[in-house]
Amino acid sequence: MDIFENTILCKKCDVKMQKAKLVKRGFIFRILVCPKCNEKIIHPVDEQEYNRFINLKNKEFKVKMRLVGNSYAVSIPKEIVSFMSAQEKIMDSMVNLCFEEMGKLSLNFGQSLDKVKEKIR
Ligand SMILES: [Zn+2]
Repeated sequence: MDIFENTILCKKCDVKMQKAKLVKRGFIFRILVCPKCNEKIIHPVDEQEYNRFINLKNKEFKVKMRLVGNSYAVSIPKEIVSFMSAQEKIMDSMVNLCFEEMGKLSLNFGQSLDKVKEKIR
């Protein structure tokens, strides 16, 4: 059973805390909020996942660029893709690529990941 299924009282107010969701950097946290003082508790599992994300985020990967036909291909480290949790399923899907600024490209998996999550549900 999930620990958040238990009745948890706010340690300051002695009031039952309510379940809620918190979004931070694309992460959805399950939280408990005290309706009186607004004190929050983040679900420990979600917090752990978030810490794993921060660790990956602070890592720098050196990847090679290869010429494939008329395009260049770079490999995305498996560590990152598997963390995004839908490894095989996102391989063939479309991602949005943006020329963010000089010297910087960004890849947006947002939409395709959402689609994969929908399918899993
Ligand atoms: Zn409280």
